[in-house]
Amino acid sequence: MPAATTRKRKVAKKDDVRTGSDPASPTVKEWATMKPFGSFVVEDADGNENVFALGDRAVVLPGGKKKLAPHQYWVARIIAIRGKDCPDSKKPARLGKAKILVPEFWVQVRWYYSPSEVAYRVKGFKESHCSRYERIYSDHSEVVSALTFDDTVSVAKFREDDPDQLPIGADEFFTRYRLNTRTLEIESYSLAPLADTAGCCEAPYSLRDKVSLHIMHMCPRPCCRRFYHSACLLAAGHWAPLTHPLLLLASSPDTDAHPATTSASKRKRKPDASTCPISLLEAVAAHVPPLPEPLLALAAQPIVRSAALRGLNFTGNSRAVAAARRIVYAVLQKGYAVPDGWAEDLDVDAAMVDSCMPALLLEGTGEPLVLTCPNCSGPI
Ligand SMILES: [Zn+2]
Ligand SMILES: [Zn+2]
Repeated sequence: MPAATTRKRKVAKKDDVRTGSDPASPTVKEWATMKPFGSFVVEDADGNENVFALGDRAVVLPGGKKKLAPHQYWVARIIAIRGKDCPDSKKPARLGKAKILVPEFWVQVRWYYSPSEVAYRVKGFKESHCSRYERIYSDHSEVVSALTFDDTVSVAKFREDDPDQLPIGADEFFTRYRLNTRTLEIESYSLAPLADTAGCCEAPYSLRDKVSLHIMHMCPRPCCRRFYHSACLLAAGHWAPLTHPLLLLASSPDTDAHPATTSASKRKRKPDASTCPISLLEAVAAHVPPLPEPLLALAAQPIVRSAALRGLNFTGNSRAVAAARRIVYAVLQKGYAVPDGWAEDLDVDAAMVDSCMPALLLEGTGEPLVLTCPNCSGPI
């Protein structure tokens, strides 16, 4: 996508400034008089009609560019569409073999920057942390010809603090950051301010880091919702003895306290890995009929993400594990039955990560350990 212009030009009247880097783009004055539309249609070389509408994300192929590999696509969001009358209006404009069905349409877009473009502009931003299909939504807007539009495309939103984040395909465009091109500030799409790091690093999630000690653990509690590298947690002393195989059930995606059972609903305990929620674990053991083993095993998985975990989507296993924990809580707290087909919508096999991760054992005794959240001390 085109670079924002920094070169000084001969001063033109504001109305005569072009709205895009294309020398044929309308001037500000022309753009203001053009007729707005909600969509436009481009017919491709095979005669297929591609419809582009306001708000769509689209692949843009600037004139003269050869076909690019999918991960190199220029991606933009359509902000405004305007038509311009031209004397040649009966003759369809052409782009190679393709033709556009209207005389002259111009489209205001906001660009998604590639990681390399952001790394070039923003000190400290590392392209090597990003996926080839990652894009950074910018405030860089300009007007481009409708002739340069190739196809619509989806750009998934990756909210790193959302325990219900949907998986994102390996060849699907996605965005986790916004870029302010004036201040060069990068902002994530996370919903809440980040919790305390308490001695852990603040490095962003590197989607290409395959070091198993850099597997990132998340505390799903609403007041936390931050991932930490396992090496950072161990080095900063955020660990405790694993006192029960289902201990991680104590960390709920919906409450900052231990999830209470009916018998313990009036007891308020401070979240702490060393004081495990006995009532919850007792309720699991006492439940008739017994809760399905695969459900409990999934619910007790650590919530993690890492390129070191092959087969796991880069967004991690939080959605599946959070869903399993919610089912367990609903059974224990509200007396619900485990729904048939509870696993249907969840990638259970990929989410079962504990056997693929390095065992955490206390040196000397071999006692199993659990990592704890630096913010709330809960087991993660
Ligand atoms: Zn770290
Ligand atoms: Zn926490």
